[in-house]
Amino acid sequence: MTDSIVLRGGTVLTMDDSHTIHQAADVLVVGDKIEAVGPSLEVPDGTQEVDASGGIVMPGMIDTHRHMWQTAMRAYGADWTLTQYFVWYYLEHGKAFRPEDIHAGNLLAAWESLEAGVTTTVDWSHGLQTVDHADAAVDALQATPGRFVLAYGNIQAGPWEWTADPEVRKFFERRRTGTGDMLGFQLAFDVTGDPSFPERAAFEAARELGLPVTTHAGVWGATNDDGIRLIHENGFAAPENIYVHSATLTTDSYQRIAASGGSISVSTESEQSAGQGYPPTWQVRQYAIPVSLSQDTSVWWSGDLFSAMRSTLGADRSREHLEAHVKGDTVTALSLRAEQVVHWATRGGAHALGRDDLGRITPGAKADVILIKNDASPVSFPLLNPYGHVAFQAQRGDVHTVIVDGRVVKADGKLVGFDAAAVRRSVDATIAHLRFSMGEETWQAGMHPEMPAGSKVLDNPYQYTDFQSEKTHGARGSMFGEPGSGS
Ligand SMILES: [Zn+2]
Repeated sequence: MTDSIVLRGGTVLTMDDSHTIHQAADVLVVGDKIEAVGPSLEVPDGTQEVDASGGIVMPGMIDTHRHMWQTAMRAYGADWTLTQYFVWYYLEHGKAFRPEDIHAGNLLAAWESLEAGVTTTVDWSHGLQTVDHADAAVDALQATPGRFVLAYGNIQAGPWEWTADPEVRKFFERRRTGTGDMLGFQLAFDVTGDPSFPERAAFEAARELGLPVTTHAGVWGATNDDGIRLIHENGFAAPENIYVHSATLTTDSYQRIAASGGSISVSTESEQSAGQGYPPTWQVRQYAIPVSLSQDTSVWWSGDLFSAMRSTLGADRSREHLEAHVKGDTVTALSLRAEQVVHWATRGGAHALGRDDLGRITPGAKADVILIKNDASPVSFPLLNPYGHVAFQAQRGDVHTVIVDGRVVKADGKLVGFDAAAVRRSVDATIAHLRFSMGEETWQAGMHPEMPAGSKVLDNPYQYTDFQSEKTHGARGSMFGEPGSGS
């Protein structure tokens, strides 16, 4: 296996400090680093060549918050609210997950990231009810060729409890050695706003262990301004803190985050469906808080940052229009640009993780590179506005090549070394275990939450028909009425 690769003739989004774009340029990777970027590069003998013409070469994307263990239940909670999610995992069934179930979910999620061009994923792993679960989580991440951060968490105990557990301390001693820069660690816990600030001990543990903290902040009904104020007033608002969602917060909290240099991980698809609050980029822009993007959990969505970029642009612009319309104004120029969400998906994630060697294609940076190219697709041309193309036109199936740490992990649209059958077997075993331990009725009920009382279609005075809403509803078994028949 040669240790150099060149991607020839692509449109290169370097995401360097001035966002330089090269047309018809080459990117040379030697070992685990970017060696050179430019036209018609001379390359060492034996360099593997990838034809990038007609495609976009950009840094691998970075997801700063994903509960990877939940991927074994892909789409199960598509119609959940956050309350239903909390009840299912936190109160009723989270304890049913065995170490092998954490392993199965993480393995599937890790490959899913790579397939979508997400080369670094923060595994917000809050199902680690024992250290065996934590070992299983790390084993799965290390069994795949991606770059990961294990954010250690445990929703079955208070953070002041599990961070004090000697077994957890030993876990970090054991697993932090020899991982190089392919696996990082954080502590993951939430701050409830209890004025006695019991989370102090967990922040002190993080400081002692030299680990950043990631926390769900500004989540409607769960965490609010009190949590941010307590973190800040007690001296734990470190610049490496990642505040996930940060949707339901006021100016005071945003200013505390901005002043302390922390960053916000926005999960727009999640905030829109689950109800943490309105996706906050339209607000955090005005406080100049660094932003990264995340997909939260595949129990609803998928680990795909194209979706994150698209939904974030949509939510931000939607709010900007609505705020203007309320005042009778019209937005004639948009504030959030496609270029900015591509920045958040790459450099934004690198900044949040304190990794200036990621998220950019510049000589000396780590060779985490993707090629978006799909010659058979009518969506692949013309390529006029590359940021717009990435944010609104491309999708995960267009990810042609993925390189992590100088190693090709997806080639010509196919993952390298992904044993789909083996991963499927372990995921199937997890599902079988959950269904069996919960019972089929409970399992099915979890997937099909009740409709809220009183959902119905209003009778419409403009439909001059014999339309009878109740009868129609009954017949169709749906909330949708039938359009006027016209007879
Ligand atoms: Zn989350």
